[in-house]
Amino acid sequence: MAKITDAVDPGNAGGSVLIPEIPTEPNRPVNFRCNKCGKVFTDREARRQHVFDQHPFKRPQLLIGSRMVKERGEVIASPFPPADWVMQQAERIVIDQQDVSSRQACRRLSQLTSGFHEVTLTSADYSVTYHIEFDIPTEAQLAKVERAFNTLIVNQPLESDRIAQFITVAKQEDGARYYLEGVSDFLYGVLAKDQRGGTSLGHDDYSAKYHAAREALRFLNRPLANLIKALVNFNDNAFNEAEALAPGGQVAIACRVLNGLRSGKHCPAPETRVASGHNLPVDTLTAETMRFCSLPLAEQQEQLPQLVHLASKRLTTDYDRVKIQALAMNTCWEAGDQELAAGWAKKLRHSPIFEALATRIIEDVENE
Ligand SMILES: [Zn+2]
Repeated sequence: MAKITDAVDPGNAGGSVLIPEIPTEPNRPVNFRCNKCGKVFTDREARRQHVFDQHPFKRPQLLIGSRMVKERGEVIASPFPPADWVMQQAERIVIDQQDVSSRQACRRLSQLTSGFHEVTLTSADYSVTYHIEFDIPTEAQLAKVERAFNTLIVNQPLESDRIAQFITVAKQEDGARYYLEGVSDFLYGVLAKDQRGGTSLGHDDYSAKYHAAREALRFLNRPLANLIKALVNFNDNAFNEAEALAPGGQVAIACRVLNGLRSGKHCPAPETRVASGHNLPVDTLTAETMRFCSLPLAEQQEQLPQLVHLASKRLTTDYDRVKIQALAMNTCWEAGDQELAAGWAKKLRHSPIFEALATRIIEDVENE
């Protein structure tokens, strides 16, 4: 049978092609040597396991306090002292193409306030480059956001157009970017959650807006920023975190009451009514829940039916429903109506947040 290749010109006019000799070592045992310590293994997997166990990969890391810095997309929006910057496993540090000692690196990172910067950490095995944006506002830039907020948002009906105006004004005046973003995201979230004020967002979008607000304000330690972070945590039923940030007034009381119920304690109502204590627009359910917590017991009993009615509404989230049920349980218990309290407790038996107190109330009533 003719080979197909017979018809093809081999390309060198039929001349012979020199085949290089491949050196062979017959019967040479195949082994796998660890290139770190020289130990020899009979198979690849054994060597891999050995390297994994005996020579852990030393990947350098950049941290602020105990938090790992993201390699991409990290924005530093507030200053950190040199001692907060930590470089682990780094034998060589380069900041913006310049070799620096770790001491110099910490000092330099604590002084940067704007622009994109590159930090490369190199260990024996590995090199990591961080692309970090510094956007640390000045006191004046922070104050500009608060001034625009006080003029355009406080004591005004909250509307989508008004938030847009607030953003425009604060931007024109070079207000602090992440502060402005955090505040306006929260306000858009309030409109989305309530489905009011000409919002084009859906109800479910509120949670993304709230979380974006908390993220943008993460490092800002200002009363307005802390209040927003407290409210977002309160909304998520993270009462412990909320209480730590709560400023005072109704927010502090509500956080304390619900954090107490979460940890299994009954909470007596305040002796006298407590005022709101802040002027940030808040979504209806959060506002009503907080207002309820700030009422003396007699008024709580009187207003409980209205609060409970809110729990049955279509737009009420599971987070809010469970808060209302826990408050109803607490009010009934404090008012001495244990049967009714046990009725609410049964609804909370499977709530991971309030089950401890709910179970105890059910048991107390059954054992009587
Ligand atoms: Zn080894």
